[in-house]
Amino acid sequence: MQALNFPPQDWQLSLKHLVTEPAQLFDLLQLPSELLPAAERAAKLFPLRVPREFIALMQPGDINDPLLRQVLPLEQEFDESPGFVEDPLSEAAARPVPGVVHKYKDRVLLILSGACAINCRYCFRRHFPYSDNQISGSSRLQALDYIRQDTHLREVILSGGDPLATPDGRLEALIQEVEEIPHIERLRIHTRLPVVIPSRVTDRLSNALGQSHLSTLMVLHINHPQEISMELSLACEHLRDAGVTLLNQAVLLRGINDRVEIQVELSRKLFKTGILPYYLFLFDPVKGASHFDIPEPDAQRIAALMQVELPGYLMPRLAKEIPARSSKTLILPNF
Ligand code: SF4
Repeated sequence: MQALNFPPQDWQLSLKHLVTEPAQLFDLLQLPSELLPAAERAAKLFPLRVPREFIALMQPGDINDPLLRQVLPLEQEFDESPGFVEDPLSEAAARPVPGVVHKYKDRVLLILSGACAINCRYCFRRHFPYSDNQISGSSRLQALDYIRQDTHLREVILSGGDPLATPDGRLEALIQEVEEIPHIERLRIHTRLPVVIPSRVTDRLSNALGQSHLSTLMVLHINHPQEISMELSLACEHLRDAGVTLLNQAVLLRGINDRVEIQVELSRKLFKTGILPYYLFLFDPVKGASHFDIPEPDAQRIAALMQVELPGYLMPRLAKEIPARSSKTLILPNF
């Protein structure tokens, strides 16, 4: 078994040492070798990428580990399932200029980076054409101009890929440019990077967010309580001390977090970490990931049972995204 070499303190070094070969992942976690050929085939559909810090949170030898299942390429990714498509949220129709996704009236999303620290097998953007749809060079100016001209906008959301794959200096420059747009009041970052590489929360990042005159929010993507490490808790404390509001959104995933007790524990642990549960999303039907899907009535039942266990402020909103609707669609819990 190879050493996990944890914890490197330089997040960019961690990004350079991601595990990208299925054989290496199998070796590190002592996984059954008969599953390796399928993992290697499926990794050709969507590459394997997983930080060593995240692997350190997995249980060696457990092929059903809920963190491993989020990154393990499987034979099922070749299944052809009706309704599972490459662009499940029809984002191609919501891109007015390169690198901008504009779906809702008062907020707009900037695709800051096509890179992620981790490739989640269920990602609804696993087929997204990042190469010509992220903001860089002249497209950055075009994107900022678009935001400047739409005075309905109040919030800029940095997304990706993972926007925190962008170095701090570039982020600082972008935040300053957004701050200069008079009608923008809020800056939101959607990220999974601090979860999988907690050292990504640098002093420079916290200061840039904390010192901005915009209200700053970070929406973390945590699907299972086992993802909340001590290092992540410290990183969150740092962000909160700087004045950043922390929220979480999770996706309901078959075989990973589709049990009531896991969702209840997740909400409780998030709160202890200073993060409020925000959304629990139904799975977006992306091609290659239908094995994660959970029927809506099952999701409603899970949410109804969560409501019995949790106070209202720890109950994430069960929701799904329907292309072309003017907001997320809330789903009522139901037995
Ligand atoms: S965009 Fe988010 S869900 Fe998709 S692969 Fe990157 S980190 Fe995972």
